[in-house]
Amino acid sequence: MSDAYDLVVIGGGPAGYVAAIRAAQLGMKTACVEGRGKLGGTCLNVGCIPSKALLQSSHHLEMAEKEFAHHGIQVSGVKADLKTMMGRKEKVVEDLTGGIEFLMKKNKIDYIKGWGKIEAVGKVSVKPLDGKGKAQTLETANILIATGSEVTPLPGVEIDEKQIVSSTGALSLPKVPKTMAVIGAGVIGLELGSVWRRLGAEVTVIEFLDFVLPGMDGEVQKNVQRILKKQGMNFKMKTKVTGAKAAKTGVTLTMEPRDGGDAETLKVDTVLVAIGRRPFTDGLGAKEAGVEMTDRGFIPVDADFQTNVEGIYAIGDVIGGAMLAHKAEDEGVVCAEIMAGQTGHIDYDAIPGIVYTHPEIASVGKTEEQLKEAGVAYKSGKFPFTANSRARCNADSDGFVKILADAATDKVLGCHIVGPQAGDLIQEVVNVMEFGGSAEDIGRICHGHPGLPESVKEAALNVDGRAIHI
Ligand code: FAD
Ligand code: NAD
Repeated sequence: MSDAYDLVVIGGGPAGYVAAIRAAQLGMKTACVEGRGKLGGTCLNVGCIPSKALLQSSHHLEMAEKEFAHHGIQVSGVKADLKTMMGRKEKVVEDLTGGIEFLMKKNKIDYIKGWGKIEAVGKVSVKPLDGKGKAQTLETANILIATGSEVTPLPGVEIDEKQIVSSTGALSLPKVPKTMAVIGAGVIGLELGSVWRRLGAEVTVIEFLDFVLPGMDGEVQKNVQRILKKQGMNFKMKTKVTGAKAAKTGVTLTMEPRDGGDAETLKVDTVLVAIGRRPFTDGLGAKEAGVEMTDRGFIPVDADFQTNVEGIYAIGDVIGGAMLAHKAEDEGVVCAEIMAGQTGHIDYDAIPGIVYTHPEIASVGKTEEQLKEAGVAYKSGKFPFTANSRARCNADSDGFVKILADAATDKVLGCHIVGPQAGDLIQEVVNVMEFGGSAEDIGRICHGHPGLPESVKEAALNVDGRAIHI
């Protein structure tokens, strides 16, 4: 066993590669097995990074087409060059995934390309990527499952990644469809729906529920839907898609009103299926090794991220909870530290969620609905970006900041932002929440002027009705 590893990580996404790096930093002999041929997982290859690259490019286009004139900048002949846009996106992905490979080398982690299978406790076999040649067997003290998630399919709507696409296909369409139907008004639906609407597609979002972005604060949901509608996105709510038929001339979707009524059809060029993601454990051998899974396929773990089998741990999307890259990364760090004999935990109440539409949407902690349901007495402070001088300078003042604080102690319980750079603004509140801070604390901290963060300060002041600028 002298060649044995201290840790073999299966999966090189944000959960797995970060855990591997932290384990190596702590002196563990570590290998990371990845089957897609590139490190970075869903996030870097077909998720966070390519989607944000396209969101940024398409945002520039929309600004040039619709906003520059208002700033006194006359431009003509503005048009999208999709090939260059896609090429830039691919280059961003390539550079970043290459960067992770460099980090593996720097930390002396064995990056093993291939599909990992748990043969037994302490034993992982790896099938080569090309399927040829013999599998190698790795001996290890600990196994960490970080195999992530995959697209949830919708029965009757078969994804071909050409006309009917998942998020992966929607990140690489070769041309802008004239019409696009997006099934699901969740994060992916609104982000990628925004990309293709900005590039010129007529986008219709079809959602089963009567609100967008399930789990977000109710006021945010209403505001966001109104803003996106104003931008030209169509919404068909309380509607169930029952089937899709692809032909040369387009895809015909069949839909039914959720609460009963006549079925109808919608013909579009492209359909994006974005109804959620599910854990991925195909071919992993976890079940055979005795690892328990929920009926939805998630792997339950204890406070140390250990599964029911000693020596087998799991983190990231595959264990459930918020399917977010930063949550997966933090679990990777804490899990490696626990394996190395240290202690650690994650405050799941202080994990921000960000939707990168324009304006952005960001949320941390409890929503008003959750506080009401839990019977917690709370105070709410709101501040609109229309009253923020920087947002006015930028001509970017849709939305608001809302801070929720405990009625008795003033402790910040949640924050919900729709507005410019909401994803950056939320971090201040996350930090304050981590330190158990109050709305008063935020209100008394000096914020640079003119700055968007002043809206956070004003919302905090308004928890006690004393915002200065409204
Ligand atoms: P994954 O990233 O899925 O990585 C798992 C890896 O394991 C994969 O590379 C897979 O190939 C590999 N693997 C699986 N089984 C095996 C095996 N048996 N052997 C070897 N390798 C294996 N999150 C955010 O926080 N911010 C965002 O902006 C954001 N945008 C997103 C946009 C899109 C379109 C999508 C789809 C997701 C987005 N997410 C975002 C979610 C984010 O991508 C995931 O939460 C994150 O990637 C989870 O990390 P993970 O390491 O658990 O899993
Ligand atoms: P989601 O869970 O966010 O949204 C899915 C939506 O589809 C929901 O609104 C749901 O009600 C609806 N839906 C489900 N079945 C339906 C049906 N049959 N007909 C119509 N609507 C239906 O899932 P997603 O948007 O696919 O995203 C998957 C995961 O990826 C999320 O958990 C998210 O955390 C992660 N992600 C994060 C980011 C980010 O952080 N910016 C971006 C993209 C994806």
